[in-house]
Amino acid sequence: MRPQSVEAPPVQELLPGVYQLAMPIPVPLKVVNLYLLPGRTGWTVVDTGFHTPETEARWRLALARLGIGFEDLEAIVVTHHHPDHMGAAGWLQAQSGAPVLMLRQEIPQAERFWRPGTQAGEAISAFFQDHGMPKEVAAPLAPHHQEQVERVAPFPEITPVDPGQELRLGRWRFEVLWTPGHAEGLMVLWEPEARFLLGNDLVLATITPNISLWPFAAENPLAQYLASLRQVAPLPARWVLPGHREPIQDLAGRVREIEGHHRERLARVEAIVQVLERAGRLATGWAVNLELFGPQPDLFRTRFAMAETLAHLEYLVLHGRLQRVEGDGAMARFAYRTAP
Ligand SMILES: [Zn+2]
Repeated sequence: MRPQSVEAPPVQELLPGVYQLAMPIPVPLKVVNLYLLPGRTGWTVVDTGFHTPETEARWRLALARLGIGFEDLEAIVVTHHHPDHMGAAGWLQAQSGAPVLMLRQEIPQAERFWRPGTQAGEAISAFFQDHGMPKEVAAPLAPHHQEQVERVAPFPEITPVDPGQELRLGRWRFEVLWTPGHAEGLMVLWEPEARFLLGNDLVLATITPNISLWPFAAENPLAQYLASLRQVAPLPARWVLPGHREPIQDLAGRVREIEGHHRERLARVEAIVQVLERAGRLATGWAVNLELFGPQPDLFRTRFAMAETLAHLEYLVLHGRLQRVEGDGAMARFAYRTAP
């Protein structure tokens, strides 16, 4: 698509003082919800979209529709390092001069994934091969990652924020919450008076957020994620305004559903390991992934399916249900078997 053929993305005022911008993204998820918060001295942007020529054109059209320009932006919040959220932050910063705010805990991940010269793609490809992914499947993941690095350029200058900090954005006073799992330093913003949560990818309505094990991240992201769900479930939220799909009104109810989904998936993963074991087959991460998700139609989904499988396998190891063992060398460095 040529940038000049781009249409203005839908912008709607979901709550008085909270605009949602539904930004198309070039990945299977299709749209990321960004938020714009007007205030007395300027506007705050929460998340940014992939940095592509189309995104630039759409940002211009969206701001024009709101009757503002880049010079009216006074802060750019990036909730986590994923490219649909962080991608255009550096470019928006260059246009506006606004600070880019990110949770301190997330900055190392952003650096590892997106700093020019990063070897993250190679590291992910090697990590998956250690877990049995065939080389011909894993190798294209490295250049594919590099393509995403170009969609998160330029790398912004980041101003760290800390958990518990109060952030005055737009007309609101948010409490900064650190809710790791979907990303190591994922930040959600809680507005205790109006009782809404800018929840990005912590809790989604009709899909479950991807929980991935990466070679350079927490050893048990699924446990972190489940703890983060328990942390936010009691919030008396009227609205959760998410990073994808529809807003959520019943936060505690949706948390219960997502917890149930992961309990089922853990049981399924454990059962797959048992079946492979009984069949005398090596239960590598890749073998389990194929049983769980089957072959994926594109590199994004290949990567997320494998990383999600590994997050569940490692959870089961760290909770004593499975053991990580030596692979057979030729096929994989690691495999899994049921705990004695
Ligand atoms: Zn995300």
